[in-house]
Amino acid sequence: MVVIIKNKELIRVGVLALQGAFREHINCIKKCGADAVEIKFPYQLKEIDGLIIPGGESTTINKLIKKYDFKPYLDEFYKSGKAIYGTCAGLILIAKKVANEDFGLGYIDVEVARNSYGRQIDSFEEYISLGFNGGEKFKAIFIRAPKILSAGPDVDILSEIKDNIILASQGNVLVSTFHPELQDDTRIHEYFLNMIEKS
Ligand code: GLN
Repeated sequence: MVVIIKNKELIRVGVLALQGAFREHINCIKKCGADAVEIKFPYQLKEIDGLIIPGGESTTINKLIKKYDFKPYLDEFYKSGKAIYGTCAGLILIAKKVANEDFGLGYIDVEVARNSYGRQIDSFEEYISLGFNGGEKFKAIFIRAPKILSAGPDVDILSEIKDNIILASQGNVLVSTFHPELQDDTRIHEYFLNMIEKS
């Protein structure tokens, strides 16, 4: 039997490139030493080992997911056990429940509320601890961020600020309410690559 161990150079991550901050994620993954490609069509999901759904405007991305009939392909990708990381709007799109909206693909057992930090403080930065890494604090950038209102028993909380869950995982799914791709620290992308290696 031949056992193939995936090392980083052989991992290809797709970033859903319908709207939002997809280029920044591509740069981060490349900086980590893996390959990254823009996903514009459903068939491309067959060509990747892990998927990032970026931040942006969840209503717009949701419309485009419908327009290009992505849902069955995303469901198949999720069910195959391949890793998915949703940041900000990406989290909203894959949550089980979204307050006052009728979307949410149901890949992680959380309820979220959009634009939850109020208008005045649309955007802020916070130095956070990472549950999987005891090293230096990580600069988290929140832009019109959602809040996770509740999480099911199988969700692992990886970081919180003021009792708000901001980084979490469940099985092959990772989510953050902030944008890790807008600065130089790639520790969360490295963590996601490790999830892909294990998946
Ligand atoms: N407020 C946006 C939404 O509800 C999310 C913002 C973001 O992704 N930075 O879709």
